[in-house]
Amino acid sequence: SMNKAQLIAWLGKLNEVYADKKEYLTELDAAIGDADHGINMNRGFGKVMEKLPTVEAKDIGTILKTVGMTLMSSVGGASGPLYGTFWMKGGMIMGGKEELSSEDFAKVIEAGVEGILQRGRPDLGDKTMYDLWAPVLEVVKEKAGNGDDVLAIVEAALPVGEKALADTIPLQARKGRASYLGERSIGHQDPGATSSYYMLETLKEVLS
Ligand code: ADP
Ligand code: MG
Ligand code: MG
Repeated sequence: SMNKAQLIAWLGKLNEVYADKKEYLTELDAAIGDADHGINMNRGFGKVMEKLPTVEAKDIGTILKTVGMTLMSSVGGASGPLYGTFWMKGGMIMGGKEELSSEDFAKVIEAGVEGILQRGRPDLGDKTMYDLWAPVLEVVKEKAGNGDDVLAIVEAALPVGEKALADTIPLQARKGRASYLGERSIGHQDPGATSSYYMLETLKEVLS
């Protein structure tokens, strides 16, 4: 399972990671976008840290929804609404919870990925964060179905996510700003898939 303290630790660590990776994510976005993804994520999680004390005592659903609303209103660009929806969708189905079971965790990820799909309408292979989340969601559901704990689920998802991330490099972007580059988007790793990968990597560290 994953308790509230672990969720809060995850958010705090994510804030540190997006601060550390601000330049790197922005460099990735400079190659195929408008050079702001690192700045966007860093600003968004900074705002999440400001908001967190006001909801820390509340249930997990409220915390997740607050993260989503904060990202929605502060990240901007394409990724703001996408990440905003991701976290909010999970929050909407976890009202009243003080702890997430493996099954709950899988449901949060599933709802979040559905939110990305509704919002961005990405297809697999469009070179977006969805290319990371689609295979990761499959693993998460499979492992949760086997009764694995959240750490084991995340450990199984990491190598799948790592491969999916590398697999965005040869793709031509078909959604978002990178799609304006056409074939010139080929040969670069997708920034949003990269920031999504950090979510998994950071959660593993927090749960280990
Ligand atoms: P912007 O491109 O508006 O400046 P960001 O740089 O913050 O926004 O985020 C760019 C990332 O958003 C991309 O790398 C990609 O992963 C993701 N993205 C863009 N459009 C879509 C979409 N329609 N569906 C899913 N993900 C998308
Ligand atoms: Mg950008
Ligand atoms: Mg932008």
